[in-house]
Amino acid sequence: MTSNLTKEDILQILTASDADIIRHMAETVKYRENNLITYSKNVFIPLTEICRNDCGYCNFKKNPDDPEAIILKSKEEILESLKEAEKFGCKEALFTFGEDADEEEVVRLKLSEYGYEKMVDYVVDICQMTLDETTLLPHTNGGNYSYDDLKRLKEVNASMGLMLENSSSRLMELPAHNKSPGKNPELRLETIGNAGKLKIPYTTGILIGIGETKEEIAESLLAIRDLYDKYGHIQEVIIQNFTPIPGIEMQDWSEPSFLDMIRTVIAGTLLFGDTDVSIQVPPNLNNDTAQIFLLCGADDWGGVSPVSPDYVNITSPWPGIDELENLTVDAGFSLIERLCVYEKYINSEWLNDSILKQISNISERQ
Ligand code: SF4
Repeated sequence: MTSNLTKEDILQILTASDADIIRHMAETVKYRENNLITYSKNVFIPLTEICRNDCGYCNFKKNPDDPEAIILKSKEEILESLKEAEKFGCKEALFTFGEDADEEEVVRLKLSEYGYEKMVDYVVDICQMTLDETTLLPHTNGGNYSYDDLKRLKEVNASMGLMLENSSSRLMELPAHNKSPGKNPELRLETIGNAGKLKIPYTTGILIGIGETKEEIAESLLAIRDLYDKYGHIQEVIIQNFTPIPGIEMQDWSEPSFLDMIRTVIAGTLLFGDTDVSIQVPPNLNNDTAQIFLLCGADDWGGVSPVSPDYVNITSPWPGIDELENLTVDAGFSLIERLCVYEKYINSEWLNDSILKQISNISERQ
């Protein structure tokens, strides 16, 4: 399967104005199969705030000598958060953390204190603990991984994720990524491709407003579509807007305009319109405007947590589930909870027996 949309078609949407925007918005309606908008009730656990990259828009990474930095959460701390999340009915354990943190000595020392050599060994064990001792499903988003590491992580994760951000290597020259070797798009596309080869249900997406051109947005969406066409493992595409936050390197950059977000969500919807890939817009980054994206084809709010903040966007609290439901219903849709792995991947072709068992236990409790 390949999309009928060419790069020129996408560019036309990304540069549309006036009535053309409304026309494209109306085109998205024909791809909507129902009026359901999904979200995953999760707990966000940042295993470490140490990261080898230094993205100009980052509000998450901390320096190893920062006394407030999470160097490496212990198993006990993690289990406590997971148990708390269970009480709130969370189903997803979102492990998001800095990339290759074990390049830093402070992290290596902590790992060794806990009996581990490499970060990936610890992550695999944390996910296994989640499966063994809780009712939650692990979803790991920890940066680039090798094929072999992904193979190990697949066995203990229901799904995984990595933002492509943008497929342009030009951004490696800009503040966004000039100190972030891990944001090299070739590396990221390779990781996402390897996840496809390994049949890992996967989440990815793009970040807009970080110095990219419209052409580069079109190329990025097409690169994701290409990987989906090859492997079928992309379950959702996040369209995320850059938000300038005081203190980050790019604090004086403008955020993308509301119309640019609208155009990009429409382009994503139309590009993936002939597939069942969801288009996700984070509601906490678009407090006053989130509803309009549903009218542009977005059908997923992503992970929303009743127990933990969005550590990656710490100044943007998630809406409460009630609030999310109200704004969804007000726009003419119904809100429905989903798991971190989408229905079509819940079978032995994609998931092993222990993950399938965990999922079936969740279904039985509902
Ligand atoms: S945005 Fe992610 S990869 Fe970049 S510095 Fe922050 S934690 Fe690291």
